[in-house]
Amino acid sequence: MTFVATDFWDAVGKTPLIRLRRASEETGCEILGKAEFMNPGGSVKDRAAIGILGEAVKRGLLTPFQPGTVVEGTAGNTGIGLALAANARGWKSVIVVPRTQSQEKLDFLRMIGADLRLVDPKPLADPGHYVNFSRRLAEEMGAVWANQFGNSANALAHETTTGVEIWEQTGGKVDAFTCSCGTGGTLHGTARALKAKKPGVKVVLADPHGSGLYSWVKTGTVSAEGNSITEGIGQASKVPAVLEGAPIDDAVRISDAEALEQCFSLLKEEGLSVGGSAGLNVAAAIRVAKDLGPGHTVVTVLCDGGARYQSKLFNPPWLRERGLPVPSWLA
Ligand code: PMP
Repeated sequence: MTFVATDFWDAVGKTPLIRLRRASEETGCEILGKAEFMNPGGSVKDRAAIGILGEAVKRGLLTPFQPGTVVEGTAGNTGIGLALAANARGWKSVIVVPRTQSQEKLDFLRMIGADLRLVDPKPLADPGHYVNFSRRLAEEMGAVWANQFGNSANALAHETTTGVEIWEQTGGKVDAFTCSCGTGGTLHGTARALKAKKPGVKVVLADPHGSGLYSWVKTGTVSAEGNSITEGIGQASKVPAVLEGAPIDDAVRISDAEALEQCFSLLKEEGLSVGGSAGLNVAAAIRVAKDLGPGHTVVTVLCDGGARYQSKLFNPPWLRERGLPVPSWLA
């Protein structure tokens, strides 16, 4: 026996880095996916959740096994991580989510005992936007607001864990890192850790349509066009504070169809069930690898699992209605 996690918090991270066979063969590179769907809450956001809550404990805002409440606005995964981590410390969680997010994530949040508040999707400038709504709610309740978009503990969690793990798991043999951004915590923290070890590591932001971050990296101006079925990634109008200052070298934009093709292929040909943002990240890694040429190692993030989106990404009628590809074995 080499490692026994003491609890949920201790079981977060230390995820495998998995060689993606088809992507590697297609590019002549080693394309490696960090298996974040293997975290105990099922996503990369478990790391941010315990980073943020750990910081709140350090600041005396929460005390383990004393009454306390955390409030957050989220596309779902951060809420899941926060709610489970809070359960493990005897705290309550109030989670604000736009009702457009997948039914699976909403059902799961209820199942794990989060006080779920659904809101209509609104622009960021609107007081009813889920982030603004959650901030107000935390103030009214006198609760801790996790503030994943503005809390530096988010990126720090990835700098001290995700980035360090990738460096160790590759033995320093990493040429590029790419992933999409919701808060940007994963990209910023991981990029900082890798660049501190090897400044030449190329960091590429991957962005869905409907997000303005691609144009922000390319031109300095946030400008969005189109839309995407992916959840938890992309920002239409504003660069999150957590992403500001990240050492980014380039950006790629990936369509939903390209992301889905990767989700389906990873599942059917490699046994890896991942969600839309992970598919998008793998498509981006292939783009980056083709740009670098054969012989390089490109790392990306498999943010969460496919079961979280079964009713959408693996639902042929839903996909056909949107003119998107359908998994051949379900057609
Ligand atoms: N993928 C999914 C499925 C997510 O839920 C999130 C977080 N909202 C991300 C990717 C992006 O992670 P980050 O907030 O660290 O940018």
